[in-house]
Amino acid sequence: MTLHRLRRADVLPSVGRECESWCTACKRVLDHVITAMNGREIVQVRCRTCGSVHRFKGAAASAAAAASPKATAAAVPKVSSGGKAASAPAAEARPPTQRPAAAAERQRYQRQLAERDVATALDYSPALRPAVGALLRHARFGYGLVEALGDGKAQILFSDGIKLLVVGR
Ligand SMILES: [Zn+2]
Repeated sequence: MTLHRLRRADVLPSVGRECESWCTACKRVLDHVITAMNGREIVQVRCRTCGSVHRFKGAAASAAAAASPKATAAAVPKVSSGGKAASAPAAEARPPTQRPAAAAERQRYQRQLAERDVATALDYSPALRPAVGALLRHARFGYGLVEALGDGKAQILFSDGIKLLVVGR
């Protein structure tokens, strides 16, 4: 699988810099500090939220991989309707903002993102005027799909749920 990393136009990654990565403990894309590099490849990162150190998993890679169970069965355990995860991640590590609808939104996100080429994602900014269906890349939330527009805001589906963001400003 090809990892779609930060574009070369962005600041080159190096140890000590921040990057976005899928956190295997928090189960979401978060800011991480790079702790190990192999050439120009980020190898290992530390989560700024939970402090865990783990292999770098790009936002796009994790979302796409989550859609193919064999690739990441361990990294992204499926949560059944009973709420019991296959590999029992620490319950206290779960973000407090988790809503009942979040699981369905995550599945929808992973399904839809798997069909998209994240290399075509537009960088989100409040000035952006995206169309419904557009694929965006947000500095904090990762890749998002525009689901609806109106009133200067876009309803965007991110890996951790739907957010309303300002657009067209
Ligand atoms: Zn974490």
